[in-house]
Amino acid sequence: MSAISAADMVLANPGIIVPGRPSWNCLLCHRPWPSPDAKADLDTQYARFPSGLAIYMASVLYDAVEDLPEPTPADLYERFLAWIRPG
Ligand SMILES: [Zn+2]
Repeated sequence: MSAISAADMVLANPGIIVPGRPSWNCLLCHRPWPSPDAKADLDTQYARFPSGLAIYMASVLYDAVEDLPEPTPADLYERFLAWIRPG
């Protein structure tokens, strides 16, 4: 059984504003992803399933750690997960 990567999940959710890889900048506004528009979009997409958003962002964070050597995992945690409102 192969793991489903965050990229696969993004492809399965074409409504979500996705990051470019390996830059991890928003493909829409070119700011670091998740940009404000991407966060608003994710909030809308996961409004009925907030814990799903945390799971999704955690899997994205895992991919980002592989692509982005410069920020520390703690920095990436702040960027990817700290903005999520508790469900
Ligand atoms: Zn954006």
